Amino acid sequence: MSFCAAINCMDGRVQEPVINHLKRRFQVKFVDMITESGPIRFLSTETDPVKVNSILERVEVSIIKHDVSAIAVIGHHDCAGNPMSRDVQVDQLRSAVSMLREKFAGCEVAAFYVEDDWTVTELHDI
Ligand SMILES: [Zn+2]
Repeated sequence: MSFCAAINCMDGRVQEPVINHLKRRFQVKFVDMITESGPIRFLSTETDPVKVNSILERVEVSIIKHDVSAIAVIGHHDCAGNPMSRDVQVDQLRSAVSMLREKFAGCEVAAFYVEDDWTVTELHDI
C-alpha cells in the first residue's frame, strides 16, 4: 500500500478531482485527505495556530502510520472558506509550501490549484 497526504478544502466538488490527480501524480494507491474550509488561508498566516497545529498533527499521522513521503497542498476556484482570487491563493500556497517544506524536510511538498472547470493544475514554480 502506498499513500500521499493532501491538505485540501472540505468542498465536496474538489475531492474526486484531487484524489484522482494525486494518485497519478505520486503513483500512490490512497490519498489521506486532511480537510478544512479553505486550509491555505490558515497555513499562510499565523492567525489561527490551533487550526494549523491540527493540520500538522494529521500530516504527522500520515507520515508515521502510512509512510507518506509526498504532501500536496491545494487551493481551488470558488472557495467559500477562502474567497480569494487565483493570484492571491497562489501566494497563499507559496507561503504554505514554504512552511510545510521546513516542517517536513524529508517529504516532497507540491502545490495544486483546482480550476473553474474542476481540472487540477500543479503549480511547478512554487
Ligand atoms: Zn474551498
